[in-house]
Amino acid sequence: MSSPAKPAVKTYQNYINGQWVSSSTGETFPVFDPSTEEVIANVAAASAGDVDKAVKAARAAFDSGPWPATTAQDRGRILFKLAEKIRQNQPILAELESRNTGKPIVEAEYDIGDVATCFEYYGGLANKVNGSVMPVPANALSFTLREPVGVAGQIIPWNYPLLMAAWKLAPAIAAGCACVLKPAEQTPLTALEFANWLEEVGLPPGVVNVVNGTGEIAGAALVAHPGVDKIAFTGSAVVGKIIVKSAADTLKRVTLELGGKSPNVFFADADWEAAVDGALFGVFINQGEVCSAGSRILVEKKIYSKFVDAMTEKAKHIKLGAPLDRDTKMGPLVSREQYDRVTSYMEIGKKEAKTATGGGRAKAFGKGFYVEPTIFYDVDNTARIAREEIFGPVATVIPFENEADAIKIANDTPYGLAGAVWTRDIFKAFRIVKSMRAGIIWVNHMQPTYVEAPWGGYKQSGFGRELGPWGLEEYLETKQVYVNLDETPIGWY
Ligand code: ADP
Ligand code: MG
Repeated sequence: MSSPAKPAVKTYQNYINGQWVSSSTGETFPVFDPSTEEVIANVAAASAGDVDKAVKAARAAFDSGPWPATTAQDRGRILFKLAEKIRQNQPILAELESRNTGKPIVEAEYDIGDVATCFEYYGGLANKVNGSVMPVPANALSFTLREPVGVAGQIIPWNYPLLMAAWKLAPAIAAGCACVLKPAEQTPLTALEFANWLEEVGLPPGVVNVVNGTGEIAGAALVAHPGVDKIAFTGSAVVGKIIVKSAADTLKRVTLELGGKSPNVFFADADWEAAVDGALFGVFINQGEVCSAGSRILVEKKIYSKFVDAMTEKAKHIKLGAPLDRDTKMGPLVSREQYDRVTSYMEIGKKEAKTATGGGRAKAFGKGFYVEPTIFYDVDNTARIAREEIFGPVATVIPFENEADAIKIANDTPYGLAGAVWTRDIFKAFRIVKSMRAGIIWVNHMQPTYVEAPWGGYKQSGFGRELGPWGLEEYLETKQVYVNLDETPIGWY
């Protein structure tokens, strides 16, 4: 299939206080198509001064003007309108997302559908936030008010660009917050196209601002800014730790969704075909650039060799190709930096374990950041490739003896984002569910994600939850109100 004609290289600015503005320094940075390594856009690089302007705009929109007076019903309607815009423009957004990230177009289409669903979900939830009344003695009334947390700084990664923006913006708008969104510098384009609709759907200027640039400059300025009440971050654990330290100076609320080294556990009694597929899907979807990737594949010894062989055979036939080709199952990695990181882990893996397939650059491609789907086996759980997040299509297969052994290995990790177990024995399945220390557990599947259900990690995979009512909760404060019903003086002095 031939690719559509190349669009012109566009220049994007920052979106601050309802206006498109260049960076105060005039600086821009290039954005690439990782399949061709060509520049597809240039984007204004926000300085700390530009971030300050965005935060001040958000602050002003939150503290006065029409936004605080906007009803919950109307905030919901705005979210529905955004969802409609996304659905109407799904083909364009999916193509742009695929072009910029390198992910297969078919996956990008799912992502954009999920973006719209996320706005719809929080549109519906906006007017269902209730306080409580507490049973204090008869001479008083005690109740809670749920109020927006304020200005939210939202820093997102490059693997699901518009979807991660939606997970953060939608609940924040529903709650009545004002936002400064910083997309990942590798993949800002869909969020910037999206920002074009903010005014049209009725959001007052300053309620949502989008600033571009590196994490070290624009991201760090947002985290340090005293005008920001909360930081919501999705990204690496390394940066998560930097953010917590910096946010401590102003005691911001922080929610973090960080990486993982999630176990995908296969017992001998699992449905064979579904299990082999699930092992591959769990770790290779989206080129393995998934925080919840099932990158540690734990297999019961009874089926271990046969399982490695079956996975390997299928992995060899995964169709790598141009992201916009509808047959492509795996595209290039997002950037040269990521390509270097993943291929260096492949070199480490070759020393630490046995290679079943892959292990380097996908040689059929003259350009682009393509790597082979890679399976390492006989991996010891102490190996670096079993402990460190690689964020690419690299599976580490680890044998286990029995259930107790599986649980021990599964939990022997600093991370705790997700885990999965495959078995037809419901007793065993639920014992594993209860034993695994992770925020998301799948039984006989890996990766399905629904906006209705909470998402987030245990241990060093972060804290706080996104999606569902939990996601909205993170953008709310609780105000306790006490009303005295007794008019007699206290009589203390
Ligand atoms: P990766 O290394 O895979 O790019 P990161 O965690 O570095 O993952 O990036 C996720 C997001 O965090 C991006 O938007 C990036 O710009 C931002 N970021 C990176 N470093 C910092 C930092 N020091 N402070 C704030 N944000 C940062
Ligand atoms: Mg980084």
